[in-house]
Amino acid sequence: MLSLRNYDIKFVKGIGPERAKLLGSELGLHNAYDLLRHYPTSYIDRSRTYSVRSLHGATGEFPMLQLRGRFISFNVVGEGAAMRLIGLFSDGTATIDCVWFKGVREMRKRLATGREYVLFGKPSYFRETLQMTHPEVDPPETVEAGPGIRAVYPLTEKLRHRNIGSKQLHGFITAFLANLRAPLRDTLPDSVSRSLGLMSLDEAIRNVHIPSSPQALESARLRLKFEEVFYIQTDMLMRSRRRKADIQGFIMPRVGKWFNDFFYQCLPFELTGAQKRVIKEVRADIMSGRQMNRLVQGDVGSGKTLVALMCMLLAIDNGFQACLMAPTEILATQHHTTLCELGAKIGLNVQLLTGSTRAKKRREIDEGLRNGSIHILVGTHAVIEDRVVFRNLGFVVIDEQHRFGVAQRARLWKKSVVPPHVLVMTATPIPRTLAMTVYGDLDVSVIDELPPGRKPVATVLRYDEQREQVVRGIRAQLDAGHQVYIVYPLVEDNEKLDLKSVTEGYETAIRIFTPYKVAFVHGRMKPAEKDAQMSLFASGEASVLVATTVIEVGVNVPNATTMVIENAERFGLSQLHQLRGRVGRGADRSHCILMSKRKIAANTRERLELMTSTTDGFVIAEADMSMRGPGDIEGTMQSGLPFELKIANLAKDGQIIQLARKAAEALLDADPELTSPGNAYFSAALKDMLSRTTDWSQIS
Ligand code: ADP
Ligand code: MG
Repeated sequence: MLSLRNYDIKFVKGIGPERAKLLGSELGLHNAYDLLRHYPTSYIDRSRTYSVRSLHGATGEFPMLQLRGRFISFNVVGEGAAMRLIGLFSDGTATIDCVWFKGVREMRKRLATGREYVLFGKPSYFRETLQMTHPEVDPPETVEAGPGIRAVYPLTEKLRHRNIGSKQLHGFITAFLANLRAPLRDTLPDSVSRSLGLMSLDEAIRNVHIPSSPQALESARLRLKFEEVFYIQTDMLMRSRRRKADIQGFIMPRVGKWFNDFFYQCLPFELTGAQKRVIKEVRADIMSGRQMNRLVQGDVGSGKTLVALMCMLLAIDNGFQACLMAPTEILATQHHTTLCELGAKIGLNVQLLTGSTRAKKRREIDEGLRNGSIHILVGTHAVIEDRVVFRNLGFVVIDEQHRFGVAQRARLWKKSVVPPHVLVMTATPIPRTLAMTVYGDLDVSVIDELPPGRKPVATVLRYDEQREQVVRGIRAQLDAGHQVYIVYPLVEDNEKLDLKSVTEGYETAIRIFTPYKVAFVHGRMKPAEKDAQMSLFASGEASVLVATTVIEVGVNVPNATTMVIENAERFGLSQLHQLRGRVGRGADRSHCILMSKRKIAANTRERLELMTSTTDGFVIAEADMSMRGPGDIEGTMQSGLPFELKIANLAKDGQIIQLARKAAEALLDADPELTSPGNAYFSAALKDMLSRTTDWSQIS
């Protein structure tokens, strides 16, 4: 399999240098290995034929499908670049336009009216007309001879225009496989394939492209998915086992003045049991002589910041500096403020470094980091720039890590010879199998207890026509001296419109909530302006904050008791949960109002109703994954992986992930460094795979 990497696809029958270039630039396919691993995204049953009439009036997106009938007429319209061929096609039930923008003359010559054809393609509406652009057209005999289940490949528009469709791609792959002299060598250890009864690689590759039956296809997909997650699991486990065995960590045995003074003089409340437990776990790690890599999962409001601070104080007690990274400027600023307040009494020196820190301040910070007078540096990505040099960085906290790329984490390592201890904090409840893959190499602590006195946020779903009643409710909260968030969605592909609606929302709020002051924050604002508006709200001067999702993570205003989420139907569950976590932080009863239009899809309503019935982050995360599929969660999580998954799906393939995890453990128990001859080929394949990405050896 590995030698296929040296086989240029231009030598594959039917491809040639021109197409090879195109496949390389469009799909990243350069060699035979890439080609065989370009898996179909779906399959269609070519034994099924649709009637054209059944397509008329249908709504939503059409799948790739097959029609059978005759062309009634052909027309060449337009000239030069705008020239196109329109073939009117009928199967006796109705008609559809077939359109070719490229290869017009060639198609016109090839096709005849009155003769029977099988068309294959994706129908769509152009204006009011049903059409199919660049369909595959074949005489019925050739289609009937082919396999019943046909692969549909990921393609680009450009490829289609150059007449490389699923069929062509499939042809290249089939030709290549047919010419192979020996079966593909298996890339999984024999022992693993055998014990799990997995299909051989050779069979799996053949069946994924040319399924011999639905069952064989399923086994093939299972085998290929398993391989992907098994590689990741093996790699993660090896790294974490090695790290535990050899990577030295700073030894921090002392609990000294900083920790104790804070604990006895400054701690504003009793720690929860879960907070105490996590601090103990961290303490055991940093005394062990090995580098700590620990993930702390705790729902919003569970008090992670305090835990982070107390752990950093332990590092400071042992003569080290600490650093806290946050994904956004607002969050970093807020952490900075919180830590300064908490540590003021004991003289803790906490500094803030972000992209907008002025040059003069920067120089002071540089100096303080070098001479060791700064205890804690809080910041955004700015802290991982090479020019930031610490005297002795020993402990790093990363807040909301999923927004902080793994590669960025790695840069911290360069900042000291011995890697600092790392504590990753996340409020995104990650279902177990997902955590196992993405954070498979981290030790996990969970803060599963909220500080006492928190009341669950009462959540209701309201429709647009109930707005007046909602406004009355808000006013009552304001009159009682509380503060209110009003949140609008903001998505990139719709930015202009969204900006308009949040701006209108702001203007309306000013009008209907006079004399209360309204603050306004959105993602397009300059950081300084944002901060000014945020502090208006945080200080209590403004009673209402109209905002886009920039407030999603971390903002802490305990007096805010109500959150209105506009267009709640457009948010994902986990995002709603994060947002809702902004209220319910004080002792008063809090409310979250999900505003939606009345007409929404059934599953959207289900999603919103779930929000009204639970505040358990894990329940919500699981539901989010199962209802919405991989969605956002997977997207953000994928960035944490050593290579891109081509066929496995983190959200849906939980069982395979667990299977792979167990198999990887067993394999490494028996052969920790994969040095036995039986594992040699697998080991080479794994190394090869990892070498194609960033250097992950630095990252744990
Ligand atoms: P998150 O885990 O979401 O980052 P924070 O650290 O922001 O949560 O804490 C949320 C709020 O709870 C803060 O106002 C914090 O001061 C408070 N808090 C933290 N720990 C406790 C505790 N043990 N008892 C009471 N309040 C606490
Ligand atoms: Mg937080």
